[in-house]
Amino acid sequence: MTVPIPDATTRWRCAGCGNLTRFDVARTRRTQEYWHFDLAGEHAVEETEVKAESVESVTCRWCGRSDAIELVDRNEAAVDPTADPTGDPAGDPAAHGAG
Ligand SMILES: [Zn+2]
Repeated sequence: MTVPIPDATTRWRCAGCGNLTRFDVARTRRTQEYWHFDLAGEHAVEETEVKAESVESVTCRWCGRSDAIELVDRNEAAVDPTADPTGDPAGDPAAHGAG
C-alpha cells in the first residue's frame, strides 16, 4: 500500500516512531527533458517537465518501516523542535548583518 504525496496542507508521518522529516521515497516518473549539449558533446538538463508520477514506496529513515507512513494534516503534526536534533535551522544567524 502506498501513501499519497503530501500537498500544501499535509505531510507524512511515521506512525511507528513519529518521524516527520526523513523518508526514502521510491517513485517512478515519466518526464520530458530539455537537454542542452555543448560543443564537446556534454549535456545539461535545463528543463524537466513531469508527465506522470507514481510513488512505489515511502520508507522511514529512522525505523525503516514502510507500512506505517501516514498522511497527516500539517497543523495536526506540529513540529516539536526538540524531536529532530539534526533538523534544518530556521535561520542562519551568520546571514544577518555580516559583511
Ligand atoms: Zn519510523
